[in-house]
Amino acid sequence: MTDANSWVVEANDPANGFPLANLPLGVFLRGHDRHIGIAIGNSILDLRACVDLGYFDALPRSLRDACWQPTLNALMAQGNGSARALREAATGILSEDSLQRDTRLLVAQADTRMVLPVDIGDYTDFYASIDHATHVGRIFRPDQPLLPNYKYVPIGYHGRASSIVVSGTPIRRPSGQIKVPEATAPIVAPTRALDYELEGGFLIGKGSTHSEPIPIDRAEDHIFGFCLVNDWSARDIQSWEYQPLGPFLSKSFATTLSPWIVTLDALAPFRVPSLPRPEGDPAPLPYLADEAVRTHGAFDIRMEVYLHSLQMQRDGQLPARLSRSSLRHLYWTPSQMLAHHTSNGCPMRTGDLLATGTVSGPEDSSRGCLLEITERGAKPLTLPNGETRSFLMDGDEVILRAWCEKPGHPRISLGECRGTILSALS
Ligand code: CA
Repeated sequence: MTDANSWVVEANDPANGFPLANLPLGVFLRGHDRHIGIAIGNSILDLRACVDLGYFDALPRSLRDACWQPTLNALMAQGNGSARALREAATGILSEDSLQRDTRLLVAQADTRMVLPVDIGDYTDFYASIDHATHVGRIFRPDQPLLPNYKYVPIGYHGRASSIVVSGTPIRRPSGQIKVPEATAPIVAPTRALDYELEGGFLIGKGSTHSEPIPIDRAEDHIFGFCLVNDWSARDIQSWEYQPLGPFLSKSFATTLSPWIVTLDALAPFRVPSLPRPEGDPAPLPYLADEAVRTHGAFDIRMEVYLHSLQMQRDGQLPARLSRSSLRHLYWTPSQMLAHHTSNGCPMRTGDLLATGTVSGPEDSSRGCLLEITERGAKPLTLPNGETRSFLMDGDEVILRAWCEKPGHPRISLGECRGTILSALS
């Protein structure tokens, strides 16, 4: 089924990223209404139109109703079996074997605007890249980069759901308390150390019950799909506020999500073993250990960061790539993060967002934020046009891209996550 071709011809182009094998879900504006859609090639299959024109008559009523909602939540709450049935129905409509080629069901992606696909109640951000934790630890604590709990606990903190925005939303430079080391007291000023963080995110489909942990071997039943996350960070505000309870206003001003949610079914060919633990590292504690997670619980999702400065945009230059990494480098898998999160009985609700933390890899070219690349500004990077950056400037656009590829399989795109920096309010 997944290698079949579509009558939406550009979807069959190996470089397109939205073939029949992908079929990610999102929400787009049609007039003033929010419609759920599935990306196919350069178009969107309008699921509300599919319902209205009778194409989903064989699906359960609850699923048809969910397709008419302004967010994915009602669909996600029904569990991954329902999403699978929906994708199979969409495959039937879009396959080149389909008898009807009904263009009334399609909207060009270029003619519409994507909105936040999910009503997100809670947002948790992890710290699952050991390379990121080590690089950042080295900057702040050269004598003890990695704290002793790291190899036992999937470290995380509770983020802020109210400031999550969809790709393309401008990001206002925040102001806050900043204390430079030589000063005795902080000032309040626009951040001078605005950064991005390259992250993966996964959304909770079926929720869980209060006081009942999700066992690790059932964790994926609750994961609806993946997207890209940019966890914007103000490093100077962060370094003054983060002790003793962790980041607060340095992170909560904005988080950007890519608009398409790629299901676990679409990602199945790109599963890989979890990161092998080096000799001497402790084994995961029993509630975080599972043979299926060890053998194929991680995902080889390739990720890249690009920067497009105002000057580059004005000069007609292409964005410059700052780094490339993969979700496979994480020390903890999504299932381990979810099992840990609920191990104290904390319930998950449909639409909750769990992000991985900055995805860095072992190479210098795979550092997932400017804090790591420039070593907190000590080693500014030089862009192809000669501009330099320690941290982000006003007018800079940050573009995250992610996809999966492997011989014998069509490329699966997770799309893009974009944001341009606006100057601080005066
Ligand atoms: Ca983060």
